[in-house]
Amino acid sequence: MLLSPTQSRVALRCALEHKFAILAVNADSPAAITDCLEAARECDAPMIIETSLWQLTGRSFGAGDAVLGMTRYLAELTVLANSGRYRDVPVIYHTDHIKGPDTLRLLTAAIRGLPFGDSQALLRASTISLDSSEMTEQQNIEHIAALCDAAQEAGVAATLEMEAGVDDGVTEIEVADRLLAAVERRHPGHLYLWAPGVGTQHGLSDKGYPFSAEAVAKHQRRASEICGRPIGIALHGSSGLAESDLKDGVAAGVAKVNWSSESLLIRSRAAQEYYAMHTAELEKSHQAWKATAMDNGMQSFVSSRYVPKVVERIQILSGTGKASLVRSQLT
Ligand SMILES: [Zn+2]
Repeated sequence: MLLSPTQSRVALRCALEHKFAILAVNADSPAAITDCLEAARECDAPMIIETSLWQLTGRSFGAGDAVLGMTRYLAELTVLANSGRYRDVPVIYHTDHIKGPDTLRLLTAAIRGLPFGDSQALLRASTISLDSSEMTEQQNIEHIAALCDAAQEAGVAATLEMEAGVDDGVTEIEVADRLLAAVERRHPGHLYLWAPGVGTQHGLSDKGYPFSAEAVAKHQRRASEICGRPIGIALHGSSGLAESDLKDGVAAGVAKVNWSSESLLIRSRAAQEYYAMHTAELEKSHQAWKATAMDNGMQSFVSSRYVPKVVERIQILSGTGKASLVRSQLT
């Protein structure tokens, strides 16, 4: 089931209360979405499927048009998440790294709802964030405030993640005071996730990460004090982190763990292996060339390698069995 913005708040609060984190995968193809839901179903875990701008404008979705991309992405996810097979998996659709001149137009549409064909149905994102890495603090505040305005004007709920310097080492606690308090004062009740820097880095690297679970705990406490409700920490750049760091992070208040680089690497390496294994079959004289060439051949192979890795990740974050828990808290 695809969760609404208000249902997503319940899921995030449940994660904080019960000390687990929801895995948030940047799924960049329809097959990747299916694989993530399959892993979540296998674990009885909730799942966040998220997209950055590069996915929405990519060939599999918008082919250059981000609004079209989000509409298509949400349409596919809505159909899949509400199908009989995945109805019991609480699924959040989150907008991840969105930046550039189209940011507000795109995210406002995601909050108000994207028209879907000729029907009256509107497709809405469950939770929203934007990439503030090239913004000043004031610009970050103004953008988040504009999204709150858009939700209020449309009479709909928006559930937001605010970030600050996620790649720049450990964020000082005063930044939480400046950013979160400024938004909360003007627009109380919209923020539910806080993504400060806690020593992680986006991308893949062999160098050690100065991850600080202590910073997670400090920021989680301060953010919750400022907003007057439990605020979970969203962890960016989790790909290079040790399992023990992830577990310590969850114990300290991480409620959402973004996963992109490693996920992409697993999928692309599996595809590489598939084509390397089947070079002979891809000769046009070969009997099996068609079955080998079809998208399903490669995607099924990738799935066999990828789904167990997603399951492993969900288990590290203590997500196993938590779908039932989240469902029991949804009214
Ligand atoms: Zn990120």
